[in-house]
Amino acid sequence: MREIACPECRAPYDGGRHGWCPDCLAARWLATPELIRPKHDPRVAAEARDRYRSIVTPSLLDDLAAVLADAAERGWWFWDRDYEMWVHVTDRPLGRTPGVGIPAGSREPDHALAGLFIAEADSASQAHLFAADLERHAAQVKVGVFTPLGACSSAGCRNLARPGGPGCAEHPDAPGETILQNVEPPARGR
Ligand SMILES: [Zn+2]
Ligand SMILES: [Zn+2]
Repeated sequence: MREIACPECRAPYDGGRHGWCPDCLAARWLATPELIRPKHDPRVAAEARDRYRSIVTPSLLDDLAAVLADAAERGWWFWDRDYEMWVHVTDRPLGRTPGVGIPAGSREPDHALAGLFIAEADSASQAHLFAADLERHAAQVKVGVFTPLGACSSAGCRNLARPGGPGCAEHPDAPGETILQNVEPPARGR
């Protein structure tokens, strides 16, 4: 445990485990205007679409603050090479299934999805939430589509970098580019 103080809220957190203060991150996600976009929103009228889509479990939205707090605490950051964005991934927030998948051309879900994904998770305006398959994600990590967040570039520092920059919260002026994949990738549950 490498405890550092959040530069924004002063709360201590484990800098070796978190690239971003979990309290601030959860609060920021909760305040994002369109965190649940219509495509993934179970409250939006379900018409059949010509492409696959996933929708969020309705009860998850009732406890959104607690869900986001748990995700910020337990999830992991990845750089998505294809979409060129930071994605934050959590296995079953609060122990619940976060969503279901609906095949193209159908209105009915046909499988549960265990992963809560927050795309553009570092953006106060663009962060958005959806459910996706964790086994597929793990396979994509193996082939380099997703790369885990790396460590701070400041000499001797073992904190994780803040997504989007080379330094941790203690070293905002650390040199270089964001460093990926220089720490052990997280062990993945199912
Ligand atoms: Zn904070
Ligand atoms: Zn550092």
